[in-house]
Amino acid sequence: MKTILSSRTIFNRPVIAIMLVALLPLVAGAWVYKEWKSGIVWPEPPIVSPGEGGSAPSDAIVLFDGSNADQWKGGEKWLKEDGTLTASRGPIRTKQTFGSCQLHVEFMSPEKVRGRGQGRGNSGIFFGDFRYEVQVLDSFENKTYFDGQCGAIYKQAPPMVNPCRKPGQWQTYDIIYGAPEFDDDDKLTKPAYLTVLLNGVLIQNHVEVQGNTFYDKPPSYSAHESKQPIGLQFHNNPVKFRNIWVRENVVAKTPESSQ
Ligand code: MG
Repeated sequence: MKTILSSRTIFNRPVIAIMLVALLPLVAGAWVYKEWKSGIVWPEPPIVSPGEGGSAPSDAIVLFDGSNADQWKGGEKWLKEDGTLTASRGPIRTKQTFGSCQLHVEFMSPEKVRGRGQGRGNSGIFFGDFRYEVQVLDSFENKTYFDGQCGAIYKQAPPMVNPCRKPGQWQTYDIIYGAPEFDDDDKLTKPAYLTVLLNGVLIQNHVEVQGNTFYDKPPSYSAHESKQPIGLQFHNNPVKFRNIWVRENVVAKTPESSQ
C-alpha cells in the first residue's frame, strides 16, 4: 500500500513537538554560552621580540653582552675574557639604577673545585644597591647552611629545591624583583619580593624579603629610593658571568577606562 505524505501529516502536532524538543539544546546552548565582556578598555600589550637561547628580549637593557663592562661601576676591575666577566678585586654595581625589574644572569662556578661550604664559588646578585642578596654559590654536592646555599635569599629563605649544575657548567638565573616602598617618614609600606628561577626551575615564589640580607645580624630595612644599582659580589672566588640583561616593564598596566 502506498503512503502519501501530505503537508498535513508532516506538520501535525506530534511532529512539531518532536522538532521543538530536538531544537531545545541548541536554544539552551546559545543562552548558556553567551559571551561575557568585562567592558574594561585595556591598553594594547606592546610587541616584544623574545631573545633566542636566553639572549635579551627587544625591550631589555643589556648590562653585559661580552663586549665590554661599561654598564658597571668597577667593571674595569673584573677580568674580561672570551665574552665573560670574572669576579675579582671588589664588587661591581650598575651605573644605571633599577626599581622593580626582571633580571637575567648567567654564571659559572670555577671548574677546578676549591674550598667548601661558603668558600666555594661564592658570589651574589644584589638588588637595592647591595641590600638584598640572591646567593650565588657552588651548591653541587657542597653542603652549607640551607638559607645560604645557591638560590637562597641570603639568611632568609632557602631555595625550594636545588637544581644546581656541576662546577664548570653555565647556569642561569631569572629573577623578578619587586622593590620595597617607604613613606615620607621612611616607614616601610610595602616589602620587597623576589621570585627566582635557577636553570629554569622555580626556587623562590614571590617570597617576601625581610630586609637587608646581613651576614652578621638579623634582617632589617633601611629606607631608600626605589631605583638603586644592581650589584655583583666578589667573595674571593673567581665566579664567571655572561649574558646579563634587565627589563623594567614588570608592573601591570592599568585599564584606560571601564564602562
Ligand atoms: Mg654571596
